[in-house]
Amino acid sequence: MKLWQFILIFSSGMAIGIILYPLARMIESEGINHFLDSLGRIVTAPFQFLGRTFGKRLAARKLQKETREAETRKVDPREQQISDTAQTIRGLLLSLANVIQRTDQAASDSNQTLGDVRNTIDHMALPDDLRQVHTQLLSEIDRVISSNSTLKQELSHSREILSAQRQQIEELKTEVRIDGMTQLANRACFDEKIEEMVRLRDRYGDPFSLLVIDVDNFKEINDTHGHPGGDRILKGVAYKIKTTLRSTDFIARFGGDEFAAILMKAGAATASTAAEKVCRQVRESRFVLDGEEVRTTVSIGVAETATGESAENLLKRADKALYRVKEAGRNGVVLAEPPQ
Ligand code: GH3
Ligand code: MG
Repeated sequence: MKLWQFILIFSSGMAIGIILYPLARMIESEGINHFLDSLGRIVTAPFQFLGRTFGKRLAARKLQKETREAETRKVDPREQQISDTAQTIRGLLLSLANVIQRTDQAASDSNQTLGDVRNTIDHMALPDDLRQVHTQLLSEIDRVISSNSTLKQELSHSREILSAQRQQIEELKTEVRIDGMTQLANRACFDEKIEEMVRLRDRYGDPFSLLVIDVDNFKEINDTHGHPGGDRILKGVAYKIKTTLRSTDFIARFGGDEFAAILMKAGAATASTAAEKVCRQVRESRFVLDGEEVRTTVSIGVAETATGESAENLLKRADKALYRVKEAGRNGVVLAEPPQ
């Protein structure tokens, strides 16, 4: 063995002895557990140090990333401006739509509204690429404001025309559908109504009945009291029929001294009772012509509609029943036979 080797072995033994001695004393005085704890702390310390160092770095990087993302999410001011402008234009369009809908009063109001809107737009900060839209919008609003007075005049003129036309239409409607003397529906209107009733009966099975009412010996009234006197009796009879029947019943003047009534949802029995009532009401009425009391009576033919029966056939049966009343001496009611 060489000398340096001897010295190396000797000094290593001394070093181990120096380390092991205090260790042995420590274990002896504080126990093996304390020693293991200390040893554990010594072994894990470097790892904890590394963990803390890298953890801090990771957290810092995460924070940086989140900040960058948040900045990216932040709305571009230009985009915000465009969105605000679009919103304002939407509002403007709504205002303009309202302006168009209104009539004369609206035309006056719109000048105020448009002026405000114009003011808002005029003071609006806009990006360069929206300048053209801005200018166009302003000139368009100016144009609308300046044409408002013309619009008002035209509206006023249109209203007059519309009013005249409405009047004409009303008169025409009256002429076409209403009997001018009694203000009841006329024959044309009756024809439409009875066809509709037949359709409803076919569709839903709703019953209905028809009364055909004729003034008895009306020629005599005309002869005695003149045509105008006869007219007044006709008006009186029409009024009696109307006030005796239900408001839901449909009453028409056929022409001359003949009337018809369609009784909704009424079968033969109900219709006959209603007809008797009309007959009695007219009989008991005292009409006054030139201070003279005039009495009259009516004859009524009643027919209940049958399944699948045409309006024409129903009318024929009611007419036949009326004829039988006349034959029997007038001032009464006859119920038609059901169809064969
Ligand atoms: P009947 O009992 O058989 O019905 O006898 P009537 O005299 O009533 O005979 P009819 O019903 O045939 O006569 C109707 C008369 O009504 C004939 C016509 O001169 C008259 N007349 C028709 N339209 C009008 C009218 O609008 N006003 C007036 N005043 N009379 C009218
Ligand atoms: Mg008559």
